[in-house]
Order: sequence, then C-alpha cells, then structure tokens
Amino acid sequence: MIQDASAPVSATTEEVVAELRKRPAFVMVSHVKPDGDTLGAGLALGLALKKLGKRVHYFQQDPVPRNLRFMADTQYVSRAIPPDLPPDTLWVFGDMSSTSRAGEFLPKLERKQILDIDHHLGNEFFGGLNYVLTHECSTGTCVMHLLRELGVEIDREIATCLLTTIMTDTGGFMHSNTTPDVLQLSAELMRLGADKEEITQEIFANKRLAALKLLGRALNESVTGHDGRYIWSYVDDAMLAECKADGEDTEEIVNHLRSVEGIEVAALFKHFDGEIRVSLRSSGRVNVQAAAARLGGGGHFRASGLTYIGPLPDAVRAVNEALVAEGL
Ligand code: 5GP
Ligand code: MN
Repeated sequence: MIQDASAPVSATTEEVVAELRKRPAFVMVSHVKPDGDTLGAGLALGLALKKLGKRVHYFQQDPVPRNLRFMADTQYVSRAIPPDLPPDTLWVFGDMSSTSRAGEFLPKLERKQILDIDHHLGNEFFGGLNYVLTHECSTGTCVMHLLRELGVEIDREIATCLLTTIMTDTGGFMHSNTTPDVLQLSAELMRLGADKEEITQEIFANKRLAALKLLGRALNESVTGHDGRYIWSYVDDAMLAECKADGEDTEEIVNHLRSVEGIEVAALFKHFDGEIRVSLRSSGRVNVQAAAARLGGGGHFRASGLTYIGPLPDAVRAVNEALVAEGL
C-alpha cells in the first residue's frame, strides 16, 4: 500500500476503507492547537470504528479546548499513548499537512503505520496511505465519504462531530468553500440529528469576556498598510495577563481584522513564550498559503499559519516581504 511520495495522488475511498477494515486498532491523531475540524474528524471516525468493534484511542498533544468538549468521546482524548498497542495499529492523522503538526510527543512511526486524511494544499503525503482531497471543505467531509463506504450508521453523535468540522472550516457557512454540496451534506447531517444549535453556540457564541477584551486590545494595536489592503496586529504575554485571557482566546482575532473594509490580507502575530505564531487570512486575491510556505508554514489559500523565531519587528518584516512576493 506504500505510495511513491513523488507522485502525490490521493488513495481512493475503497482503498482506505479496505485498510480500515483490516486493522484491529487505531490511534486518531489531531494537530496542536486543535480546532473543530481536526478533532471532530478524528472523533467521528473513531466513533464509527468502535461500532465495528475496533479498538480506538485519541491522541492530541494539547488539551481539548473548552468550546469543543460538547463532542462525544472528548473525555478520552489525551497525549498518553497506551503501552499495549498491537503492532498493526493504524495511526490516523487528520487535518494536517505533515506529522510535525501533531507535536513532539508521538513515537517514531513508519509510513506503513500511518493513514493521512486531509484537505490541505501542500499535504506532504507522509502516510502509507494518503486520503487527501483538497476540494473538500473540511477533513470531516473526507471522513464522511469513508463512513458511507464503510456502511456504518451515522448516528447523532457522529453527525454532530461531522457538522462541527464543516461549520468550523466554513466559518459557519460563510467562507467561499461553502458549496451547494457542503450545504447538502450539512442538511443531511442535521436530519441525522446533528445539533446545529449547540455547535453554533459553542463555536460562534459563548464568547468569554476575556477574549473580547483581548480582541479590543489587539484591534487598538492594529496597523494598516499597502493602501489599506493589509492589516496586522499582535498579542503577547503581557496583553494576555492584562485581559486575564489565555491562548484559546486569540482564535477569532485575525478573522475580525480580515473583516475590516477593503482588507485583502490580515496577519496576527501571537508572541508567547519566546516564539511567534503567525495567523494569516486572505479575502481571496492573495494566496496566504504560498506566503506562509515561504517561511516554513502552510495551510490554505485563504487561511494559513507559521511559526517565527525571533523578535516581533523581524517577524512583521519577514511576513510583509512574503506577502509582497505573493502579490500583496
Ligand atoms: P491558524 O491561523 O488558525 O492557526 O491556521 C490557519 C490554517 O493554517 C489552518 O488550516 C492550519 O492547519 C494552517 N497552519 C497553521 N499553522 C501552520 C504551520 O505552522 N504549518 C502548516 N503547514 N500549516 C499551518
Ligand atoms: Mn481543516
């Protein structure tokens, strides 16, 4: 089943399902700073595989964010790795372009132990099998295709996880990846019992006051450039302390920056513990995935990220140069 990494062609749904049927045990792996897609996709597949009598664990380096705990099985997600996994356990990486996005706590794995399920441009095809569908709106919809082929019943809990992946990655059906097919799948998931109200509440409402205060601070610090087509801002440890906020409270800030009239690209520099995580968002003209890739990061055309080690002014300059090189 090993594919040639130089010829990146996605495995077929049938190939992946045959592999899922063969394996006795699974570890669903989600990425650091987990979002509703990486986690929801892993949980949906995990819940389905359990229905087939398989053994399933969930690995995630970071704790489950408060607003994602409504999904089933999140109580089993941890960075602990069971010592007694069978040798033919399949490690399923969801929603990441490389294994490094899973963090630093995984054992060394061989390709044949890995199934890579993703929808990112620039996925590195790091698995023995790579189910990489870049036209899908979320990793969760890739999983949905697998579940249909597997013939597992999509129950209420699974449907809620899958709808969470869609609503997360379409920004609540607002991004350009919200196609008629996506709306149709979502309707189907609601009919199967997915709790859209709860998802909306947890992901798009329920804001903590600390998060809104931090947003206010970041908006105050924002700087525009390139004739009002670019906006950037930052948050740092001192601002977190001042607002009694934490890292989770930074998630939405860059989208607010992007929503400013006339903006083509927004950047948020998150300067914590000596490193800078940069989030980039584009309104659709500039490819921020390509800009992030110039600095070792990645993501999607309209949403990407990278890590920069160095002082903030250097990071701001480097990102500006990468964006200009991509046509900003
Ligand atoms: P965010 O700004 O929400 O952290 O990330 C936006 C998008 O970019 C997500 O799809 C995420 O997977 C991707 N991304 C963020 N940081 C990195 C990174 O360091 N490397 C890669 N390859 N992708 C990233
Ligand atoms: Mn995703």
